[in-house]
Amino acid sequence: MQTRLPDSLLATLEGATADAVLRKCVHCGFCLATCPTYQILGDELDSPRGRIYLIKNALESGAASATTLQHLDRCLGCRSCETTCPSGVSYHRLLDIGRRAVQARVARPWRVRLMRTLLRRGLLSPLFGPLLRLGRLLRPLLPAGLRDKVPGGPETVACSPSSQAGPRPVAPLTSPAQAAAPASGHTVILPRGCVQPHLRPAIDMATEAVLAALGDRVLRPAAGACCGAIPAHLDDAQAARALARANIDAWWPLLESGAARAIISNASGCGLTLQDYPDWFADDPVYAPRARRVAEAAMDIGQWLAQRREAWPARWTAAPRRRVAWHPPCTLQHGLAAAPAIEATLRELGFDLQRPADAHLCCGSAGAWSVLNPGLADELRGRKLGHLDALPGDVIVTANIGCQQHLAARSSRPVLHWVECLAGR
Ligand code: SF4
Ligand code: SF4
Repeated sequence: MQTRLPDSLLATLEGATADAVLRKCVHCGFCLATCPTYQILGDELDSPRGRIYLIKNALESGAASATTLQHLDRCLGCRSCETTCPSGVSYHRLLDIGRRAVQARVARPWRVRLMRTLLRRGLLSPLFGPLLRLGRLLRPLLPAGLRDKVPGGPETVACSPSSQAGPRPVAPLTSPAQAAAPASGHTVILPRGCVQPHLRPAIDMATEAVLAALGDRVLRPAAGACCGAIPAHLDDAQAARALARANIDAWWPLLESGAARAIISNASGCGLTLQDYPDWFADDPVYAPRARRVAEAAMDIGQWLAQRREAWPARWTAAPRRRVAWHPPCTLQHGLAAAPAIEATLRELGFDLQRPADAHLCCGSAGAWSVLNPGLADELRGRKLGHLDALPGDVIVTANIGCQQHLAARSSRPVLHWVECLAGR
């Protein structure tokens, strides 16, 4: 694609990045076939190619309209188009730059602005836990999009019928000194997380139990909560970078000193955000190398299990095969490109994974997107559950809290993180 971005913009890192991405697109349109919003709305401006044109025009002309922002805001950021694109267009980087440029010129309607501010502040507030408990009490009165995000009560579903108690809690470590000498295995950092520990504490408990079964020790530094995904999804790059910087300050010294070997993520959305850190700090000479070190050390719990195969306890593979319906999150398959390897590991661990026909498509969660676009989110979830419901298995398993909560709100079967099933063995 030919571009004519102004020289003043090309002189910036963002401008040069956008130009490079735009020039890779050859207008072929292959990406339209796998774009969820294009499938539903049928409007080219709600497709990857259409959005690329909108961003190109906005960057070249310096002008943008409310309609342009609406089409960009409807994008899930699922990156399905990137998996499909034969030219290697890094669409998500262009979307970030384009949306920032457009929203600097066009104001969203006040209701949308209010909702985005409430989400940004509320999800990261220390009051999130108490607010969630209050939300459970007031659940019937909440708007539909928000109600779906508030689970009805503390989940008690144990994955394995043979393990009604679920994973046993394991006391986490909070300082490097405690982690200095693991009896066997490695010391790893498990980020504290922001909303997941409140929405589904069983995932962290299960992860700690699985790591303990490997002989690994878990370090949970007091700093390092939100990875930055929430403000990043809500276009607050400054707040996202501030959170990322705090995480790097907490984790990088542990990695550099050898006190920790890896950063383990049990939410693929957060894991993908950690891989974005080098881009976020590309123009920062101090934090760029640290961000790269953090991204290199970060991996999904499924990727870590594949590396630690020799430490698997015999009971994991001796258990009867378990048939489960499998929902691979977009962040795992399109963002991290880790789904095939993790699926192979899960099969080795005795999961008989049943993939839906539309496994490559988003379930409609996409973090805060589903709250801001409840109609589209509902439509995508209905389609996804239609395909998942056609599969055998008494539970649906996934690898990201956002998908888990979104699907569970309408699913007739429990929706769990697969690590909860493994920990129950
Ligand atoms: S990120 Fe997803 S929703 Fe957005 S353009 Fe690409 S495929 Fe479509
Ligand atoms: S598939 Fe890739 S090259 Fe083709 S139109 Fe989509 S983004 Fe452009």
